[in-house]
Amino acid sequence: MKRVVIAGGGVAGISCALALQADGHSVTVLEPGPVGEGASWASCGCIAVGEIVPLSQPGMLMKVPGWLLDPEAPLSLRPASALRLLPWFTRFTANSLPSRMRAIAADLARLTFAATADFKAQLTDIGAPELLVERPVIKLFDDERDKATMGAAFDLARELGCTIDDISGQEAHEMEPALASDFKYASVLRDWSFVADPKRLVEQLMRAFVQRGGTVVPLACAGFERDGARVNAVRASDGRLLAADEVVIAAGAHSKGLARQLGIPLQLEGVMGYSTGLQDAGVDLKHTVFYPAGGFGITPYENELAVAGTLEFASLSAAPKWRRADVLVKRAYRVLPGLQDSRRSRRMGRRPFTPDTRPIIGRTGRLANVSFATGHGQLGLTLGATTGRLIADVIAERPRETWSSVFGPDRFQGT
Ligand SMILES: Cc1cc2nc3c(=O)[nH]c(=O)nc-3n(C[C@H](O)[C@H](O)[C@H](O)COP(=O)(O)OP(=O)(O)OC[C@H]3O[C@@H](n4cnc5c(N)ncnc54)[C@H](O)[C@@H]3O)c2cc1C
Repeated sequence: MKRVVIAGGGVAGISCALALQADGHSVTVLEPGPVGEGASWASCGCIAVGEIVPLSQPGMLMKVPGWLLDPEAPLSLRPASALRLLPWFTRFTANSLPSRMRAIAADLARLTFAATADFKAQLTDIGAPELLVERPVIKLFDDERDKATMGAAFDLARELGCTIDDISGQEAHEMEPALASDFKYASVLRDWSFVADPKRLVEQLMRAFVQRGGTVVPLACAGFERDGARVNAVRASDGRLLAADEVVIAAGAHSKGLARQLGIPLQLEGVMGYSTGLQDAGVDLKHTVFYPAGGFGITPYENELAVAGTLEFASLSAAPKWRRADVLVKRAYRVLPGLQDSRRSRRMGRRPFTPDTRPIIGRTGRLANVSFATGHGQLGLTLGATTGRLIADVIAERPRETWSSVFGPDRFQGT
């Protein structure tokens, strides 16, 4: 039995906590924020199996210059961050080479194809199977040109085993009568599903962890006490020291600063996204629906309809620009003409993104007892349970596939 201290109690951290607890370890989670209000809260809630083609795909990159000039575009960059982001963007763009895209997609396929089974096992374990809604996702396209922007990504995903059916806009309208009837094309992503409420998910995971004897310290991790290549203790923001045999960094977008304190350079950016929950939305929607041209998705959570999306590059301390959330709601009328938005609540989340779109899961070779569970970008909810399982394997030194060079934190060395 080891004393494991985890920095961060979002979906990644708490999933690690439960998996490590199941292995018999004594686990403490440092989480300074309200539980469940990390990036997951602002997400589209999808278990996005097969969302494996990196964002750096050429179709996407070609749109970027136009988007940067438009403050309401699906992707934006705050000017104050431009210079700082240059190295990240350079690496991100380098990953648009077909050979790299393919390699990344194959790696992410390995992970996401395990996600549904891992997530189901996690939900069964905590007695909340109803949190998984097993319905495919629909993507909507205005016309031929719009659909073509996804063509290469869909082809690669299909080649790697994803099930994506092309249907007409009319057929999509028949599946979901609340949708506008003038979309020309749609695709149904059969491997996907969604979470009934991402905040409730994290809360219930946390509750199960505590009920089983886990400790939650409602403070931030502020630093580490080291003895050579070993971290002996984690320092909380009130100065107290938590003795540790193993440390897991799972602080989402904030993991980069913690890694820096340990001398480990992570290429990680917190990319802001927004979500507006609409209560009494006035439409009946059963599936998550994405409108890629508008840069958002709409998910029918158990208590509200959430309109979520956009990628905004800004510093970790930047305040949200709520106008971006409002723009998404305005655009959502294109998809759901009968929408009502008088009762709404807005959220912002920072997706922890690496330039190669691969998460950071595994132990660093630089220190004897520090592992990472972060960098999931737009796949954090999808991969939470899988990440927990993998980190438990790492700490138990259970034989497994060799993930470390692909997903490990040391791949950024020399950067
Ligand atoms: C608009 C949008 C749509 C998305 N859609 C999807 C989707 O459909 N499917 C999907 O899989 N993913 C989606 N995502 C991504 C997903 O939400 C994230 O990848 C995921 O929530 C990241 O989880 P995390 O636990 O790593 O980080 P977080 O949820 O951010 O949790 C990190 C936690 O660490 C804590 N913390 C910060 N600093 C410290 C510190 N110093 N010490 C201790 N704790 C600290 C924070 O308080 C926080 O609770 C979306 C995200 C956004 C914004």
